[in-house]
Parts: sequence; C-alpha cells; structure tokens
Amino acid sequence: MASNLEIQNVSKYYKKFRAVHNANVSVEQGEFFTILGPSGSGKTTLLKLIAGFEEVSSGAIMLSNENISAKKPYERNIGMVFQNYALFPHMTVAENIAYPLKRRKVKKQEAKQKVEEVLKIVHLEQYANHFPAQMSGGQQQRVALARAIVFRPPLLLLDEPLSALDKNLRQHMQIEIKNIQESLGITTISVTHDQEEALTMSDRICVMNNGGIEQIDTPENLYKYPKNRFVAEFIGEINLLKGIMVNEDSENASIQLSNGHVVTIQTRGKSHDTKSVLVALRPENIQLADYGKTLKNTIQAKVMSVIYVGEALIVIVKTKKGEELKIKIPSLLSHAITVGEELKFGWNPQDATILKDETKNNES
Ligand code: ATP
Repeated sequence: MASNLEIQNVSKYYKKFRAVHNANVSVEQGEFFTILGPSGSGKTTLLKLIAGFEEVSSGAIMLSNENISAKKPYERNIGMVFQNYALFPHMTVAENIAYPLKRRKVKKQEAKQKVEEVLKIVHLEQYANHFPAQMSGGQQQRVALARAIVFRPPLLLLDEPLSALDKNLRQHMQIEIKNIQESLGITTISVTHDQEEALTMSDRICVMNNGGIEQIDTPENLYKYPKNRFVAEFIGEINLLKGIMVNEDSENASIQLSNGHVVTIQTRGKSHDTKSVLVALRPENIQLADYGKTLKNTIQAKVMSVIYVGEALIVIVKTKKGEELKIKIPSLLSHAITVGEELKFGWNPQDATILKDETKNNES
C-alpha cells in the first residue's frame, strides 16, 4: 500500500534547543499510528509540524506524495482532535460539526446531510441541537471527532484525545474511536503518553525519547522485541540481568550472568557488537522451575515478597548477587510460595531479549 504520510529527516529547533531530531516516519494509508513517549520527548512538536502549527527547521513532510512542509495549516486539509475538545460553546453540536464544511463553502443542503451522516457514525443523532456544555466529556469528545472527520480529510491527527476522561470512559472511547477509524479507513496519527492506550489502539507505535525516535513497530513487537533499554523499560515491566557475551551465532547466544551461570538466549539473527549485555525478561516469561518443565535457563533466588493480584501472583525474588527480579506466576499454577524460601526459576531461550548495556561502567 502506498504511504500516505512521510516524514523525511525532519528536525525542529526552538532557538538552539533541538525538540525533534532527524525523524523519519512512514505512515501507511488507513493506518492507526501512535507517537508515544515521556513528557518533553517531542511528540506534540512532531504533531504540530504535521499539522502546520510549527515549521520544520529541516527535512520534509509529504502527504500523499506532495510536499506540504511550507503550507499553512488550513491548506493542509487535515482533521484534528485536541485534548480539550476545542468546541465552540455558543454553537450547537450540529453547528460545531458543520463549521469545517461552512469554511469550505459546502452548500447548505449537502452540509446538512453530511452532518447527519457523521452524527450517526459517532452515535449522537439525538444531540444535534444540544450545546457542548449540556454534554458529558465523552460526548463532547465524539462531537470533536465528528467535526474532524466530517470533511473526510486524508489524515486525522489526535492530540492526547482521551486524557481528560476517566479510566472507564477512556477505555470505552478507545474502542469506539478505533472502530470508527477502521470503518472509515482514515489514516490517523495519535499522540499520547499512555502506553496502554497506544497498545490498544495502534497498528504501529513510534516511541520517542529526547526528540529522537527509538523504535517504530507493532505493539506486539515493541513488547516482545524492544530494541534497547529505553523501549524495554518504557513499555510494560521488564527485568534486566547484567551479563557478558561468551559466544553467539545467528540462532543463539551464550551469556554469562553475574552469578557465573551461562544462559542461552535466542539472537533472532541479530549480532551484538558489545561484550557487556543485558538479558531482558518480562515478569510473565519467568517460570517456577521444578514443575515438571524443562527450562533451558535457570536461576536460584530467594523469595522476598508475594502479592496476590487475582489472576496471578507477583513474586519479588533476589539472587545471591543482590539482583531483584519481578516474576508473574498464574495463580492456578502456583502452590504456596513462602517468603524467605530459596527457589529455582527459569526461562526458555526464546523468551528473553538481549540488549546492549549502555551504562557507563558496564565492564565491571
Ligand atoms: P508532553 O507529553 O509533556 O506534552 P511532548 O513529548 O509532547 O511532552 P513537546 O511538547 O513536543 O513534548 O516538547 C519537546 C521539547 O521542546 C520540550 O523540552 C519543550 O520544553 C520544548 N518546546 C516545546 N515547544 C517549545 C517552544 N515553543 N519553545 C521552546 N521550547 C519548546
């Protein structure tokens, strides 16, 4: 499928401060693409550059193969939903939604029909004559979405669209917006710092940090195969064990952990140019050994605490070398685990990822 939006080598400076650094992003037609990152990482700046509220310092933004970098926001014809809805309080719902059509000089009758159509899409047929102040946060957000899509823009931008809503409503709206986006096939770029929202809604996620792009991938790949420590720690929970690379080929690596044990980890064809590495393990990928399973890699550790969370037990353990691990064990499988006991835990070569150890004195 042809790319709908291409960000080519884009950088943005505010005086000497570099807010976005050499960004290269290619968003496909119909894709739900999320820019995720901590506060100050450059997400909003990147979105503003796409919308045209800020000018790129260098590089180009291409929409449907046309360079739009120098165009004014209204010339870009992009739909946008803001965090605070930005509805006109003195206009009814129907008037709010009709506003972009009026600006585009769409005839009254045609505009009326389009507004009715889009009100149905967002399930607000009954609210055409209400004013924004008479509606709930979720309803106002749907009006904002309707106004952004009524003129069928080639691209929809969402700026933290759900952050003002409470948790239940936010989860409901995530599914609803995703359904609407999918049924219309509209290319969408969303900005959020909420990783759960990003994982739920996106086809692909771009993780930003310090103005740079750390990784662009599907939610599953980001979680399973983070490229570096930042992504591993930013998405979900992770255990990191320091180790030294002993030997590696295109399938497996042998890594010596700090307790002297040598473990085997799949390399997935990737070679690691440094000796100091981190073995990254999600809490649910570590299992209790001695349960009739043969686990390739094992580690002995002392149970420090056990927390029951319904479907699982969260067990915090400590190795002899003082490394703490968080382990998630399905509660159905787990017999009584007592604080203070020494247990053997393990994982299989395919359940861990090797990361470069970027800490300064990593040779110790
Ligand atoms: P948040 O989640 O807090 O909104 P963000 O990832 O969206 O953060 P940006 O708003 O893009 O981050 O800001 C990135 C960096 O650029 C920040 O350090 C910010 O202080 C700086 N910045 C943003 N806008 C300006 C501006 N107009 N002038 C100077 N610096 C700015």
